[in-house]
Amino acid sequence: MGNSRREFLKQLASTTALATALAPASSNFLMGESSAAIHSDAANSAQTNGNAANGKKIGYCIVGLGRISMGQFMPGVRISQQSKIVALVSGHRPKAERVADQYGVSHSAIYNYENYDTIHNNPEIDAVYIALPNGMHAEYTIRAAKAGKHVLCEKPMANTVEECEQMIAACKQANRKLMIAYRCRYEPTNLKAIELLRQGYAGKLLAIDSSNGFNIRPGEWRLNKKLAGGGPLFDVGIYSIQAARYLTGEEPAEVQAYSSVTDHDGRFTEVEENVVWNFRFPSGVLASCATTYGSNFIGGYARAVGSKGMLELNPAFGYQGQHLTGKTEGSQPLDINYHIPAPKQFAVEADYFAGCIAENKEPKTDGEEGLRDQRLMAAIYQSCADGRSIKLVG
Ligand code: NAD
Repeated sequence: MGNSRREFLKQLASTTALATALAPASSNFLMGESSAAIHSDAANSAQTNGNAANGKKIGYCIVGLGRISMGQFMPGVRISQQSKIVALVSGHRPKAERVADQYGVSHSAIYNYENYDTIHNNPEIDAVYIALPNGMHAEYTIRAAKAGKHVLCEKPMANTVEECEQMIAACKQANRKLMIAYRCRYEPTNLKAIELLRQGYAGKLLAIDSSNGFNIRPGEWRLNKKLAGGGPLFDVGIYSIQAARYLTGEEPAEVQAYSSVTDHDGRFTEVEENVVWNFRFPSGVLASCATTYGSNFIGGYARAVGSKGMLELNPAFGYQGQHLTGKTEGSQPLDINYHIPAPKQFAVEADYFAGCIAENKEPKTDGEEGLRDQRLMAAIYQSCADGRSIKLVG
Protein backbone atom coordinates (compact mmCIF):
# COMPACT_ATOMS: atom_id res chain seq x y z
CA MET A 1 0.00 0.00 0.00
CA GLY A 2 1.59 3.27 -1.10
CA ASN A 3 1.65 6.53 0.80
CA SER A 4 -0.95 8.10 -1.42
CA ARG A 5 -3.27 5.17 -0.70
CA ARG A 6 -2.66 5.52 3.02
CA GLU A 7 -3.47 9.22 2.86
CA PHE A 8 -6.59 8.49 0.85
CA LEU A 9 -7.78 5.90 3.35
CA LYS A 10 -6.97 8.14 6.31
CA GLN A 11 -9.07 10.84 4.74
CA LEU A 12 -11.93 8.40 4.20
CA ALA A 13 -11.83 6.57 7.49
CA SER A 14 -12.03 9.12 10.33
CA THR A 15 -14.80 7.67 12.46
CA THR A 16 -16.43 8.38 15.82
CA ALA A 17 -17.21 5.38 18.03
CA LEU A 18 -20.62 5.57 19.67
CA ALA A 19 -22.69 2.92 21.44
CA THR A 20 -25.40 1.78 23.89
CA ALA A 21 -28.88 0.53 23.32
CA LEU A 22 -32.16 2.13 22.32
CA ALA A 23 -33.71 0.32 19.42
CA PRO A 24 -37.30 0.96 18.48
CA ALA A 25 -38.63 -1.76 16.23
CA SER A 26 -38.79 -1.00 12.55
CA SER A 27 -42.25 0.33 11.78
CA ASN A 28 -43.08 -1.53 8.64
CA PHE A 29 -40.42 -3.10 6.50
CA LEU A 30 -42.45 -2.42 3.39
CA MET A 31 -43.56 1.11 4.06
CA GLY A 32 -40.55 3.07 2.79
CA GLU A 33 -39.41 6.46 4.03
CA SER A 34 -42.71 8.26 4.00
CA SER A 35 -41.09 11.40 5.39
CA ALA A 36 -38.38 11.60 2.75
CA ALA A 37 -38.58 14.58 0.48
CA ILE A 38 -37.25 12.57 -2.42
CA HIS A 39 -40.31 10.51 -2.91
CA SER A 40 -42.67 10.03 -5.78
CA ASP A 41 -46.22 9.08 -4.88
CA ALA A 42 -47.64 9.72 -8.30
CA ALA A 43 -49.74 6.80 -9.36
CA ASN A 44 -49.46 6.03 -13.03
CA SER A 45 -52.20 4.93 -15.32
CA ALA A 46 -50.84 1.47 -16.08
CA GLN A 47 -53.40 -1.26 -16.04
CA THR A 48 -53.25 -3.56 -13.06
CA ASN A 49 -51.29 -6.65 -13.91
CA GLY A 50 -53.32 -9.79 -14.55
CA ASN A 51 -51.59 -12.09 -12.05
CA ALA A 52 -51.58 -9.46 -9.32
CA ALA A 53 -55.23 -8.72 -9.86
CA ASN A 54 -55.94 -12.40 -9.29
CA GLY A 55 -54.14 -12.27 -5.95
CA LYS A 56 -51.37 -14.53 -7.27
CA LYS A 57 -47.67 -14.00 -6.69
CA ILE A 58 -45.92 -11.75 -9.19
CA GLY A 59 -43.82 -13.81 -11.61
CA TYR A 60 -40.25 -12.62 -12.18
CA CYS A 61 -38.05 -13.47 -15.12
CA ILE A 62 -34.41 -13.27 -14.02
CA VAL A 63 -32.20 -11.71 -16.69
CA GLY A 64 -28.56 -12.66 -16.11
CA LEU A 65 -27.48 -15.46 -13.76
CA GLY A 66 -24.53 -13.77 -12.08
CA ARG A 67 -23.52 -12.98 -8.51
CA ILE A 68 -26.27 -10.61 -7.48
CA SER A 69 -29.12 -12.57 -9.04
CA MET A 70 -27.95 -16.04 -7.93
CA GLY A 71 -26.38 -15.01 -4.61
CA GLN A 72 -29.00 -12.56 -3.35
CA PHE A 73 -32.06 -11.77 -5.44
CA MET A 74 -33.21 -15.31 -6.24
CA PRO A 75 -32.69 -16.57 -2.66
CA GLY A 76 -34.52 -13.41 -1.61
CA VAL A 77 -37.48 -14.23 -3.83
CA ARG A 78 -37.51 -17.73 -2.35
CA ILE A 79 -38.27 -16.24 1.10
CA SER A 80 -40.56 -13.51 -0.23
CA GLN A 81 -44.33 -13.44 0.15
CA GLN A 82 -45.61 -11.93 -3.07
CA SER A 83 -42.97 -12.92 -5.60
CA LYS A 84 -41.86 -16.03 -7.47
CA ILE A 85 -39.37 -16.90 -10.18
CA VAL A 86 -41.04 -18.17 -13.34
CA ALA A 87 -38.42 -17.72 -16.07
CA LEU A 88 -34.69 -17.25 -16.66
CA VAL A 89 -32.57 -15.54 -19.30
CA SER A 90 -29.01 -16.79 -19.70
CA GLY A 91 -26.35 -17.34 -22.34
CA HIS A 92 -25.44 -20.68 -20.73
CA ARG A 93 -28.25 -23.21 -21.22
CA PRO A 94 -26.83 -26.05 -19.02
CA LYS A 95 -26.31 -23.63 -16.13
CA ALA A 96 -29.78 -22.16 -16.64
CA GLU A 97 -31.29 -25.66 -16.54
CA ARG A 98 -29.54 -26.40 -13.24
CA VAL A 99 -30.79 -23.13 -11.76
CA ALA A 100 -34.28 -23.73 -13.17
CA ASP A 101 -34.40 -27.09 -11.39
CA GLN A 102 -33.40 -25.45 -8.10
CA TYR A 103 -36.24 -22.94 -8.36
CA GLY A 104 -38.90 -25.09 -9.97
CA VAL A 105 -38.82 -23.16 -13.24
CA SER A 106 -39.98 -25.00 -16.35
CA HIS A 107 -37.22 -25.59 -18.94
CA SER A 108 -39.60 -24.15 -21.51
CA ALA A 109 -39.27 -20.82 -19.65
CA ILE A 110 -35.51 -20.57 -20.19
CA TYR A 111 -34.60 -17.89 -22.70
CA ASN A 112 -31.34 -16.60 -24.13
CA TYR A 113 -30.27 -13.10 -25.14
CA GLU A 114 -31.40 -13.66 -28.74
CA ASN A 115 -34.93 -14.98 -28.14
CA TYR A 116 -35.45 -12.77 -25.05
CA ASP A 117 -38.20 -10.81 -26.82
CA THR A 118 -40.40 -13.91 -26.91
CA ILE A 119 -41.01 -13.51 -23.16
CA HIS A 120 -43.92 -11.54 -24.60
CA ASN A 121 -45.67 -14.87 -25.20
CA ASN A 122 -45.30 -16.08 -21.61
CA PRO A 123 -48.20 -14.84 -19.46
CA GLU A 124 -46.55 -16.23 -16.30
CA ILE A 125 -43.95 -13.45 -16.53
CA ASP A 126 -45.15 -10.20 -14.99
CA ALA A 127 -41.79 -8.50 -14.55
CA VAL A 128 -38.14 -8.92 -15.40
CA TYR A 129 -35.27 -8.43 -12.96
CA ILE A 130 -32.27 -7.13 -14.88
CA ALA A 131 -28.95 -8.13 -13.31
CA LEU A 132 -26.64 -7.65 -16.28
CA PRO A 133 -23.57 -5.41 -16.63
CA ASN A 134 -24.62 -1.74 -16.49
CA GLY A 135 -24.04 -1.18 -20.20
CA MET A 136 -26.77 -3.73 -21.00
CA HIS A 137 -29.47 -2.32 -18.69
CA ALA A 138 -30.97 0.05 -21.24
CA GLU A 139 -31.30 -2.50 -24.06
CA TYR A 140 -32.82 -5.21 -21.86
CA THR A 141 -35.18 -2.78 -20.14
CA ILE A 142 -36.45 -1.42 -23.44
CA ARG A 143 -36.88 -4.89 -24.93
CA ALA A 144 -38.78 -6.02 -21.81
CA ALA A 145 -41.11 -3.03 -21.98
CA LYS A 146 -41.77 -3.72 -25.64
CA ALA A 147 -42.56 -7.32 -24.65
CA GLY A 148 -45.16 -5.96 -22.24
CA LYS A 149 -43.29 -6.69 -18.99
CA HIS A 150 -42.64 -4.50 -15.93
CA VAL A 151 -38.97 -3.90 -15.14
CA LEU A 152 -36.95 -4.07 -11.94
CA CYS A 153 -33.51 -2.93 -13.07
CA GLU A 154 -30.32 -3.10 -11.02
CA LYS A 155 -28.38 0.03 -10.19
CA PRO A 156 -26.87 2.06 -11.76
CA MET A 157 -29.80 2.55 -14.08
CA ALA A 158 -27.66 2.71 -17.24
CA ASN A 159 -24.44 4.10 -18.72
CA THR A 160 -25.75 7.52 -19.76
CA VAL A 161 -28.47 10.08 -19.09
CA GLU A 162 -29.76 9.53 -22.63
CA GLU A 163 -30.16 5.79 -22.03
CA CYS A 164 -32.09 6.49 -18.82
CA GLU A 165 -34.42 8.80 -20.71
CA GLN A 166 -34.97 6.13 -23.37
CA MET A 167 -35.74 3.52 -20.70
CA ILE A 168 -38.29 5.80 -19.04
CA ALA A 169 -39.89 6.61 -22.39
CA ALA A 170 -40.09 2.94 -23.41
CA CYS A 171 -41.77 1.89 -20.15
CA LYS A 172 -44.14 4.83 -20.31
CA GLN A 173 -45.08 4.03 -23.88
CA ALA A 174 -45.71 0.39 -23.02
CA ASN A 175 -47.60 1.38 -19.86
CA ARG A 176 -45.23 -0.73 -17.76
CA LYS A 177 -43.59 0.10 -14.43
CA LEU A 178 -39.88 0.71 -14.04
CA MET A 179 -38.14 0.42 -10.68
CA ILE A 180 -34.43 0.84 -9.99
CA ALA A 181 -33.19 -1.68 -7.43
CA TYR A 182 -32.02 0.75 -4.75
CA ARG A 183 -32.49 -1.75 -1.92
CA CYS A 184 -31.21 0.64 0.79
CA ARG A 185 -34.29 2.78 0.18
CA TYR A 186 -36.37 -0.10 1.58
CA GLU A 187 -33.95 -1.14 4.36
CA PRO A 188 -35.18 -0.35 7.90
CA THR A 189 -31.93 0.99 9.38
CA ASN A 190 -31.47 3.51 6.57
CA LEU A 191 -35.18 4.36 6.85
CA LYS A 192 -34.79 4.87 10.60
CA ALA A 193 -31.90 7.28 10.04
CA ILE A 194 -34.04 9.28 7.63
CA GLU A 195 -36.95 9.32 10.05
CA LEU A 196 -34.79 10.50 12.96
CA LEU A 197 -33.17 13.25 10.92
CA ARG A 198 -36.55 14.50 9.67
CA GLN A 199 -37.71 14.56 13.31
CA GLY A 200 -34.74 16.79 14.16
CA TYR A 201 -32.70 14.22 16.08
CA ALA A 202 -29.41 15.88 15.12
CA GLY A 203 -30.80 19.42 15.10
CA LYS A 204 -30.26 21.55 12.04
CA LEU A 205 -28.41 19.42 9.52
CA LEU A 206 -24.94 20.72 8.60
CA ALA A 207 -22.95 18.02 6.86
CA ILE A 208 -23.02 14.51 5.36
CA ASP A 209 -19.99 12.27 5.02
CA SER A 210 -20.19 8.96 3.15
CA SER A 211 -17.84 6.48 1.50
CA ASN A 212 -18.09 3.10 -0.15
CA GLY A 213 -15.67 0.94 -2.08
CA PHE A 214 -13.95 -2.40 -2.57
CA ASN A 215 -10.71 -3.77 -3.90
CA ILE A 216 -11.54 -4.97 -7.41
CA ARG A 217 -10.12 -8.07 -9.02
CA PRO A 218 -8.46 -7.73 -12.43
CA GLY A 219 -10.56 -8.92 -15.40
CA GLU A 220 -13.94 -7.77 -14.05
CA TRP A 221 -16.45 -6.29 -16.55
CA ARG A 222 -16.63 -3.42 -14.02
CA LEU A 223 -13.22 -2.28 -15.35
CA ASN A 224 -14.52 -2.17 -18.95
CA LYS A 225 -15.92 1.28 -19.76
CA LYS A 226 -18.43 0.01 -22.33
CA LEU A 227 -19.93 -2.58 -19.97
CA ALA A 228 -19.63 -0.58 -16.75
CA GLY A 229 -20.24 3.00 -17.88
CA GLY A 230 -17.89 4.30 -15.18
CA GLY A 231 -15.70 3.15 -12.34
CA PRO A 232 -16.46 2.81 -8.62
CA LEU A 233 -18.66 5.91 -8.78
CA PHE A 234 -21.19 4.03 -10.94
CA ASP A 235 -20.89 0.80 -9.00
CA VAL A 236 -20.65 1.71 -5.31
CA GLY A 237 -20.21 5.48 -5.07
CA ILE A 238 -23.84 5.68 -6.17
CA TYR A 239 -24.82 4.47 -2.66
CA SER A 240 -23.18 7.57 -1.18
CA ILE A 241 -24.94 9.78 -3.73
CA GLN A 242 -28.21 8.20 -2.67
CA ALA A 243 -27.38 8.57 1.04
CA ALA A 244 -26.47 12.24 0.67
CA ARG A 245 -29.80 12.82 -1.04
CA TYR A 246 -32.03 10.75 1.24
CA LEU A 247 -30.40 11.82 4.50
CA THR A 248 -30.81 15.49 3.57
CA GLY A 249 -34.04 15.09 1.59
CA GLU A 250 -32.60 17.68 -0.79
CA GLU A 251 -31.19 17.75 -4.31
CA PRO A 252 -27.61 19.01 -4.73
CA ALA A 253 -27.19 22.53 -6.14
CA GLU A 254 -23.48 22.25 -6.91
CA VAL A 255 -20.81 19.58 -7.18
CA GLN A 256 -17.02 19.64 -7.11
CA ALA A 257 -15.13 16.39 -7.74
CA TYR A 258 -11.70 14.86 -8.29
CA SER A 259 -10.71 11.43 -9.57
CA SER A 260 -7.40 9.61 -9.52
CA VAL A 261 -5.58 6.37 -10.22
CA THR A 262 -3.04 5.44 -7.55
CA ASP A 263 -2.54 1.75 -8.40
CA HIS A 264 -0.75 1.50 -11.74
CA ASP A 265 -1.15 -2.26 -11.92
CA GLY A 266 -3.08 -2.41 -15.19
CA ARG A 267 -6.60 -2.50 -13.71
CA PHE A 268 -7.48 1.14 -14.30
CA THR A 269 -6.86 1.77 -17.98
CA GLU A 270 -10.53 2.46 -18.81
CA VAL A 271 -12.18 3.60 -15.57
CA GLU A 272 -10.97 5.59 -12.55
CA GLU A 273 -9.82 4.03 -9.30
CA ASN A 274 -10.86 6.77 -6.85
CA VAL A 275 -13.38 9.61 -6.83
CA VAL A 276 -14.04 12.17 -4.13
CA TRP A 277 -16.74 14.76 -4.43
CA ASN A 278 -18.60 17.45 -2.51
CA PHE A 279 -22.23 18.38 -2.89
CA ARG A 280 -23.58 21.74 -1.80
CA PHE A 281 -27.30 21.54 -1.06
CA PRO A 282 -29.69 24.51 -1.31
CA SER A 283 -30.12 24.70 2.50
CA GLY A 284 -26.37 25.01 2.91
CA VAL A 285 -25.78 21.39 3.97
CA LEU A 286 -22.47 20.14 2.57
CA ALA A 287 -21.72 16.52 1.67
CA SER A 288 -18.29 14.99 1.40
CA CYS A 289 -18.18 11.61 -0.34
CA ALA A 290 -15.57 9.19 -1.63
CA THR A 291 -15.46 5.90 -3.49
CA THR A 292 -12.69 3.56 -4.56
CA TYR A 293 -11.91 0.28 -6.32
CA GLY A 294 -8.67 0.09 -4.32
CA SER A 295 -9.83 -0.69 -0.78
CA ASN A 296 -12.46 -2.83 0.92
CA PHE A 297 -14.96 -0.77 2.85
CA ILE A 298 -17.19 -3.64 3.98
CA GLY A 299 -20.60 -2.06 3.68
CA GLY A 300 -19.61 1.59 3.44
CA TYR A 301 -20.77 4.26 5.83
CA ALA A 302 -22.81 7.45 5.96
CA ARG A 303 -22.78 10.10 8.70
CA ALA A 304 -25.00 13.10 9.26
CA VAL A 305 -23.82 15.94 11.47
CA GLY A 306 -26.24 18.53 12.80
CA SER A 307 -26.32 21.40 15.26
CA LYS A 308 -27.28 19.07 18.14
CA GLY A 309 -25.25 15.97 17.34
CA MET A 310 -24.72 13.24 14.80
CA LEU A 311 -26.04 9.97 13.38
CA GLU A 312 -23.90 7.31 11.79
CA LEU A 313 -24.83 4.34 9.61
CA ASN A 314 -21.83 2.02 9.69
CA PRO A 315 -22.03 -0.26 7.85
CA ALA A 316 -24.67 1.48 5.81
CA PHE A 317 -25.03 -0.31 2.48
CA GLY A 318 -24.19 -4.03 2.84
CA TYR A 319 -26.48 -6.99 2.28
CA GLN A 320 -26.80 -7.27 6.07
CA GLY A 321 -25.38 -5.89 9.30
CA GLN A 322 -26.57 -2.27 9.03
CA HIS A 323 -25.83 -0.45 12.27
CA LEU A 324 -27.10 2.96 13.32
CA THR A 325 -25.55 4.93 16.15
CA GLY A 326 -26.17 8.48 17.26
CA LYS A 327 -25.17 10.96 19.89
CA THR A 328 -26.71 14.30 20.71
CA GLU A 329 -26.07 16.89 23.40
CA GLY A 330 -27.61 15.91 26.71
CA SER A 331 -29.21 12.62 25.67
CA GLN A 332 -28.44 8.92 25.84
CA PRO A 333 -26.43 7.54 22.92
CA LEU A 334 -28.47 5.74 20.28
CA ASP A 335 -27.59 2.25 19.07
CA ILE A 336 -29.85 0.42 16.62
CA ASN A 337 -29.19 -2.91 14.99
CA TYR A 338 -32.18 -4.75 13.54
CA HIS A 339 -30.16 -7.93 12.82
CA ILE A 340 -31.77 -8.57 9.46
CA PRO A 341 -29.91 -11.37 7.67
CA ALA A 342 -29.26 -11.53 3.94
CA PRO A 343 -31.08 -12.02 1.59
CA LYS A 344 -34.03 -10.36 3.36
CA GLN A 345 -33.37 -6.96 1.73
CA PHE A 346 -33.93 -8.56 -1.65
CA ALA A 347 -37.13 -10.29 -0.55
CA VAL A 348 -38.44 -6.91 0.58
CA GLU A 349 -37.38 -5.28 -2.67
CA ALA A 350 -39.01 -7.99 -4.81
CA ASP A 351 -42.20 -7.83 -2.77
CA TYR A 352 -42.26 -4.02 -2.81
CA PHE A 353 -42.22 -4.00 -6.61
CA ALA A 354 -44.76 -6.84 -6.67
CA GLY A 355 -46.98 -4.63 -4.51
CA CYS A 356 -46.51 -1.68 -6.87
CA ILE A 357 -47.63 -3.88 -9.75
CA ALA A 358 -50.55 -5.36 -7.81
CA GLU A 359 -51.78 -2.03 -6.48
CA ASN A 360 -50.87 -0.02 -9.56
CA LYS A 361 -48.55 2.31 -7.64
CA GLU A 362 -45.48 4.12 -8.91
CA PRO A 363 -42.34 2.72 -7.18
CA LYS A 364 -40.54 5.09 -4.84
CA THR A 365 -37.31 4.41 -6.76
CA ASP A 366 -38.69 4.76 -10.27
CA GLY A 367 -36.86 5.57 -13.48
CA GLU A 368 -36.88 9.30 -12.71
CA GLU A 369 -35.04 8.55 -9.47
CA GLY A 370 -32.39 6.55 -11.33
CA LEU A 371 -32.10 9.38 -13.85
CA ARG A 372 -31.44 11.92 -11.05
CA ASP A 373 -28.40 9.93 -9.92
CA GLN A 374 -27.25 9.45 -13.49
CA ARG A 375 -27.28 13.24 -14.00
CA LEU A 376 -25.33 13.72 -10.79
CA MET A 377 -22.74 11.12 -11.82
CA ALA A 378 -22.38 12.87 -15.19
CA ALA A 379 -21.84 16.18 -13.35
CA ILE A 380 -19.26 14.56 -11.04
CA TYR A 381 -17.29 13.27 -14.04
CA GLN A 382 -17.64 16.64 -15.75
CA SER A 383 -16.22 18.36 -12.68
CA CYS A 384 -13.31 15.88 -12.60
CA ALA A 385 -12.58 16.51 -16.27
CA ASP A 386 -12.95 20.29 -16.22
CA GLY A 387 -11.34 20.93 -12.84
CA ARG A 388 -14.16 23.21 -11.73
CA SER A 389 -17.38 23.02 -9.78
CA ILE A 390 -20.59 22.34 -11.68
CA LYS A 391 -23.80 24.19 -10.81
CA LEU A 392 -26.84 21.97 -11.08
CA VAL A 393 -30.18 23.25 -12.27
CA GLY A 394 -33.60 22.29 -11.01
P1 NAD B 1 -21.92 -10.59 -12.55
O1 NAD B 1 -20.72 -10.43 -13.42
O2 NAD B 1 -21.78 -11.50 -11.39
O3 NAD B 1 -23.17 -11.07 -13.41
C1 NAD B 1 -23.46 -10.51 -14.66
C2 NAD B 1 -24.32 -11.45 -15.47
O4 NAD B 1 -24.45 -10.91 -16.79
C3 NAD B 1 -23.72 -12.85 -15.64
O5 NAD B 1 -24.75 -13.79 -15.58
C4 NAD B 1 -23.14 -12.82 -17.05
O6 NAD B 1 -23.11 -14.08 -17.67
C5 NAD B 1 -24.15 -11.90 -17.75
N1 NAD B 1 -23.62 -11.27 -18.95
C6 NAD B 1 -24.28 -11.21 -20.13
N2 NAD B 1 -23.54 -10.58 -21.05
C7 NAD B 1 -22.39 -10.25 -20.43
C8 NAD B 1 -21.21 -9.60 -20.89
N3 NAD B 1 -21.08 -9.14 -22.13
N4 NAD B 1 -20.22 -9.42 -20.00
C9 NAD B 1 -20.32 -9.84 -18.71
N5 NAD B 1 -21.43 -10.47 -18.25
C10 NAD B 1 -22.43 -10.68 -19.11
O7 NAD B 1 -22.32 -9.12 -12.09
P2 NAD B 1 -23.13 -8.71 -10.77
O8 NAD B 1 -22.16 -8.38 -9.71
O9 NAD B 1 -24.17 -9.70 -10.49
O10 NAD B 1 -23.77 -7.30 -11.24
C11 NAD B 1 -24.87 -7.27 -12.13
C12 NAD B 1 -25.64 -5.96 -11.93
O11 NAD B 1 -26.14 -5.91 -10.60
C13 NAD B 1 -24.78 -4.70 -12.10
O12 NAD B 1 -25.55 -3.70 -12.71
C14 NAD B 1 -24.44 -4.29 -10.68
O13 NAD B 1 -24.24 -2.90 -10.53
C15 NAD B 1 -25.68 -4.74 -9.94
N6 NAD B 1 -25.42 -5.09 -8.54
C16 NAD B 1 -26.28 -4.66 -7.59
C17 NAD B 1 -26.06 -4.97 -6.27
C18 NAD B 1 -27.04 -4.54 -5.21
O14 NAD B 1 -26.77 -4.71 -4.03
N7 NAD B 1 -28.17 -3.99 -5.59
C19 NAD B 1 -24.93 -5.72 -5.90
C20 NAD B 1 -24.09 -6.18 -6.90
C21 NAD B 1 -24.33 -5.86 -8.23
